[in-house]
Amino acid sequence: MPDRWIYHFADGTADGGREDRDLLGGKGADLAEMVGIGVPVPPGFTITTEACREYMRSEQSPEGLDEEVRSHLTLLEQQTERTFGVGPDPLLLSVRSGGAVSMPGMMDTILNLGLNGATVAALALQADDERFAWDAYRRFVQMYACVVLGASSRAFEARLSKARRLCGAATDAELPALELRAVTQDFLQLAESATGRSFPHDPYDQLTGAIEAVFRSWNNDRARAYRRVSRIPGHLGTAVNVMAMVYGNQGHTSGTGVAFTRDPSTGEPRLFGEFLINAQGEDVVAGIRDPLELAAMADALPDAYAELTRVADLLEKHYRDVQDIEFTVERGRLYLLQTRTGKRTAAAAVRAAVDMAEEGLIDEAEALLRVDPEQLDQLLHPRLDPDAEAEPLARGLPASPGAASGRVVLSSAAAVEWAARAEDVILVREETSPEDFEGMVASRAILTARGGMTSHAAVVARGLGLSCVAGAAGVEPDVEAGSVIIGGRTFQEGDWITLDGTGGQVFADRVPTVEPEPSAYFGRLMELADRHRRLKVRANADTPADAQKALSFGSEGIGLCRTEHMFFEGDRIDTVREMILAPDEEVRRAALDRLLPMQRADFLGMFRVMDGLPVTIRLLDPPLHEFLPRTPGDVDALAARLGADPEVVHDRVDRLREANPMLGHRGVRLATTVPEISRMQARAIFEAADDAARDGVSVKPEVMIPLVSMAEELGGQEVLVREVAAEVMRERETSIDFLVGTMIELPRAALTAGEIAAHADFFSFGTNDLTQTTFGLSRDDASTFLPHYIEHGLLSDDPFRTLDVPGVGELVRLATERGRAVKADLKVGICGEHGGDARSVEFFHSIGLDYVSCSPYRVPGARLAAARAAIGDRIPSGPQG
Ligand code: PEP
Ligand code: MG
Repeated sequence: MPDRWIYHFADGTADGGREDRDLLGGKGADLAEMVGIGVPVPPGFTITTEACREYMRSEQSPEGLDEEVRSHLTLLEQQTERTFGVGPDPLLLSVRSGGAVSMPGMMDTILNLGLNGATVAALALQADDERFAWDAYRRFVQMYACVVLGASSRAFEARLSKARRLCGAATDAELPALELRAVTQDFLQLAESATGRSFPHDPYDQLTGAIEAVFRSWNNDRARAYRRVSRIPGHLGTAVNVMAMVYGNQGHTSGTGVAFTRDPSTGEPRLFGEFLINAQGEDVVAGIRDPLELAAMADALPDAYAELTRVADLLEKHYRDVQDIEFTVERGRLYLLQTRTGKRTAAAAVRAAVDMAEEGLIDEAEALLRVDPEQLDQLLHPRLDPDAEAEPLARGLPASPGAASGRVVLSSAAAVEWAARAEDVILVREETSPEDFEGMVASRAILTARGGMTSHAAVVARGLGLSCVAGAAGVEPDVEAGSVIIGGRTFQEGDWITLDGTGGQVFADRVPTVEPEPSAYFGRLMELADRHRRLKVRANADTPADAQKALSFGSEGIGLCRTEHMFFEGDRIDTVREMILAPDEEVRRAALDRLLPMQRADFLGMFRVMDGLPVTIRLLDPPLHEFLPRTPGDVDALAARLGADPEVVHDRVDRLREANPMLGHRGVRLATTVPEISRMQARAIFEAADDAARDGVSVKPEVMIPLVSMAEELGGQEVLVREVAAEVMRERETSIDFLVGTMIELPRAALTAGEIAAHADFFSFGTNDLTQTTFGLSRDDASTFLPHYIEHGLLSDDPFRTLDVPGVGELVRLATERGRAVKADLKVGICGEHGGDARSVEFFHSIGLDYVSCSPYRVPGARLAAARAAIGDRIPSGPQG
C-alpha cells in the first residue's frame, strides 16, 4: 500500500517527470508544476492514479483515503479562508479527472460541488448576485445527477429549454434568478425521480460520490473507445483533481476561455484562442454560446489579458512546447485551471517544431521527435480544386484542414454502420460530444451547426486529421427526419456533400479536389530529418507519374516497380492474354515481341524520371490467370477478338485456375517454367537503360526476382538476366551497370538466405507476403478475424500494417545476418507496406537495413521515422510520441 493517496498542488514534490505524470495524471502534475513556477492556480489537491487502480481492484474506496481527503480539505479551507459547504463564504469545489495521457473530454467533471439549499443562499449574499448563485446550483445539480447518479441529460435539457421559451430568452445567460431557482428545484426532483436515488445535500457526501464517479468514469464507453484508438493501456487509471472553484460568471469583469500559445491550426507563434465574458468553462468547450476571439479580450479585460500573455509565455518557455491553457477571470483576477501540451494539426506541429528549433527553444533532434511521422500525410491531403466552380451552400469555421467528399450521416451509429460498408461518410451534427467519438473516427469529415474552434468537434477532428467545418450557419440537422437543411437545401442521409475544412465551406455533391503543396516549414523539417537519418528511403511506384510524385516527396530511388501493373495499361492486356494463352512457343514469342517495345517504353519513362537514382524493377509476379477474363461471356469475347476457338480458350483458362493462387504458380516459379517472359522483361529493361543512357540519363537498374524460396530458383534467373544483359550490351556495343537481386518474402528464403545471397547483389524484403506466409494467414481474408484478435489483445496491431517484430521481424533479422555473412556488401532493403509504417521503420533501422521503400505519400513520414530512429540510438530512452 502506498504511504499516501493525495498530494497537495503546493506540496512542492512534483517536478514534471514521468513518475509524477503516472502518479498524478498529466493535469495534476501540471497543476503542481504551475504552482511551483508561480502561475496563479486555484488551490487544490490531487488524488493519485494509484487510488483509482485500488478502487477498480477492490471496488470500494481505498482504505485511508477518507481521512486524507478530510485533512486536505482543512488545508484548502485555510488557504482560501473559506469553509467547505458552510456560509457565509462557502468554499465550493470542482472535481475533475486526469489520466497520465491526455484524453480530452472523455471522462467526467463536476463543478460547483458543495452547493445546497443553505450554501446557495450564502453564495448569493456573498457574491451579491442571486442569479449567479442559482445558475451555479442548477448546473451542479444537473452535472451531479448525470455523472454521479447516472441520470440522462435529456430531461434536464428539456426543462431548461422550456424555461427559455417561457422567459423569451435566447440563451441560458438571459434567464432570471427566479426562473433559475424554479429550474433548480425541478432539477432536484428530476434527479431523484430519474435515478430513484436521493440527492445528497451534505457537501462531504457530495464530494465522496463525485470522487468515486470520476474513478468509475475511467471505464466508461467513450473513454474505452478513445483508448482503443489512441493505444492507451486500460489499467493506468485516472487521477482526481479537487480544486477550489473560481467563477467566470460573476458579471462583466469575469470570463473564461482557452488559449494556445501558438495557433493550433497553422503553428503561427501568437496567442490564439477564444473566450466568453461572464461564463463558465463548459460554455466554451460545449459550444453553447459562440465565443469571441481571444484578441478581443485585450479590450474587454486588459489587465487580465496582459497577465495571460505573460503567463502563457512563461509556460511555453518552461515546458518548451505549445501549451493549451484553460483560464478563468474572476472579477478581474486571472486563474489558470489547466495547461497541457496543445494538440495541433500536422501543419502546426511541423511549423512549431521548426520555429522552436530556430528560436533555440529546443534542439534539432527534439524538433524531429515533436512531429509524429504518421501525422505527416495529413499535410499531403487533398484540397479543393481551385478551378472547380462550386458555390458553397454554407460557411462555418475552418476547424481542421483538408477537403473531403462523403455521404451525409446524422448520427455516430449511422457513421459506423455506413463506414463498415466501405462508404465514405461525413458526420453532420448539431454539435458533437464525446459520445460521437466512434462515429467521428469512422467519418472522412465532420460538419457541425454549432461550436467554435475549440469545440469538441474541432479538437477531435484536428487530432484525427479529419477535415472539419464547425459552427456552420444555415446547417440544421434533423436526426428524426433523417435529413439536414444546408443553406436552404434539404439533404437526405446518404446524399453527397463536400467539406473544405481549410476554408470552412460546405458544398453540395462531390467537388473535385487537388493534391496539396507542402509548406516551406515542411521542407525545412525534411531537411532536418535527412541530416539525422541513416536509412535511405525509396518509393514503390509503377508509373512515371507516381515516380515523379515520389521524387517530389524526397524519394531516393524506386524500391519496387511492380511490372504486372503495366500489363493492364490501355488495350495491351489482349496482347498479354494472347501470350498467356498461346498454344505453342512460336505464338507466345510473337506476342512477347509485341509486348517488348511497350515494356521498353514503360521502363524508359521510369529511368528518365529517376535520373541518377536506383530503380528496382521486379519481374512478373502474379499467377497468369489473374490477367484472364473471369466470366464465360468475357472468355468468348476474348476468343472472338483473338480469332481463336472459344472451346480451346475456355479449356486453357480453366487449366490455369489454381486452388490457392497466392501459393501457386507465380513469381520465380513462372519465370522458371516460362523463361521467355523473363527474357522479354530483362531485354526491355536493358534496352530502355541503354536508350536512356544515350539521352544522357544516369541509369541504375536493379532487376528483382520475386517469390524465391530456393537458391536454385534464383541461380537460374540470375544466369538468364545476365545472359540477356550481355546480349543487349553486345548488340548495342555498350556497357550498363546493373544489379540482380531477389525479394525475400517466403520463410524458406529467409532461412536459406546464406545460399540465396550467393546469387544476389541485393535482398528486398517483401514483408506483405512474408507476413502472410509466416502467419499462414491470407492477406485478403485476414479481416474476418484480425479485428477480433486486436480487440481481445491477442495481437497489439494489425501485422499487415505494423511489422510483427517477434515473428516476421525475426526472419528479416536472421536473413539479413545470414545474407551478409556470405556477402558483406549485400544491399538490403524492404518494400512491403511496412516500409511506410513509422514503428516498423524504427525496427528496420535497428537491424541495419540499407533502405525502406513505401508508397509515395508515405515517403516523408518514413524519412522522419528514420531520423527519429537514428536519434533514438543516441537517447537511451528511445524516441517518444
Ligand atoms: C510484398 O510481398 O511485400 C511485396 C512488396 O510484394 P506484393 O505486395 O506485390 O506481393
Ligand atoms: Mg510479394
